[in-house]
Amino acid sequence: MQKPSGPLSGLRRSPLVRGACGRCPQCGQGRLFVRFLHYAAQCDRCSADFRAADAGDGPAVFVIFAAGALAAPLAILFLLVTRSVLWTGLIFIPLSIGLCLALLSPFKGVLFALQWVNRPGRAVSPDIPGDEDAG
Ligand SMILES: [Zn+2]
Repeated sequence: MQKPSGPLSGLRRSPLVRGACGRCPQCGQGRLFVRFLHYAAQCDRCSADFRAADAGDGPAVFVIFAAGALAAPLAILFLLVTRSVLWTGLIFIPLSIGLCLALLSPFKGVLFALQWVNRPGRAVSPDIPGDEDAG
């Protein structure tokens, strides 16, 4: 396999960038999603098993915060300028929904990659006897 080179090669090797781009956090080549928001069972290039990691509902929370922080001030400003509740709703409700849908996949990939980097399925507890990895 040819190693990526250039000024962005270190950035492309980051699991976070790979996750945001929907690529395998381990190899950066395979696809992370098989459909919109559905993880593949394994990487089609390096056979990394994705079944052990799942971002759950975390990405939706972050997307709501990010989209709200972007859309709410713009909607308020638009409402103050136009003084039209109807046009503000007609423009910003679909815009907010579209923004949430556009951000959901990258956020889901990033949270998956963060979980992958921190070793999925290796949750340890100091309360479990014989769990020598626990600190
Ligand atoms: Zn892979």
